Amino acid sequence: MNRSAIYPGSFDPVTYGHLDLIKRAAHIFDHVIVAVALNSSKKTLFTSEERVEMLKEATKGIKNIRIELFDGLIINFARKNEINVLIRGLRMISDFEYELQMALTNRRLDESIETAFLMPSERYSFLSSTLLKEAASLGADVSSFVPEFVARKLMERLAC
Ligand code: ADP
Repeated sequence: MNRSAIYPGSFDPVTYGHLDLIKRAAHIFDHVIVAVALNSSKKTLFTSEERVEMLKEATKGIKNIRIELFDGLIINFARKNEINVLIRGLRMISDFEYELQMALTNRRLDESIETAFLMPSERYSFLSSTLLKEAASLGADVSSFVPEFVARKLMERLAC
């Protein structure tokens, strides 16, 4: 049986935490779609095209994944692709409440959808795109959090 999963998020921008999860998911599943939210409820620093491009560049070496944009409900995107597993990351206990609510809401909307949670390496368990952007805007060196080219794009964007 061919098992596929969708890993949705805003990826604004992709971090080593996201990449850690993508690699773990790609080990477990035959195919993984990394689904980039077009209209995230969060105001994003990068456009959806930029977020997709950065993900593509950062995941070049991983063969069994594909990066795609999605708009609207993730369960509709999952149905369209005939995939019933969503991957989400759990970093800290603080992620748990929101992630549980979202997983149960998605399940209520579509009983066939399962959410699988993966934990990143503890090296990345504190890392979030939001904190990363805050640190970068204050001039921190973020090269241990994101690939070099992402750090450069962050600096360029924040300098404008
Ligand atoms: P969203 O806007 O949907 O929360 P994010 O791009 O912030 O999307 O994150 C997408 C998913 O990746 C979420 O499940 C989040 O918990 C997970 N994630 C984000 N950063 C990390 C990290 N450092 N380690 C593991 N998972 C992470």
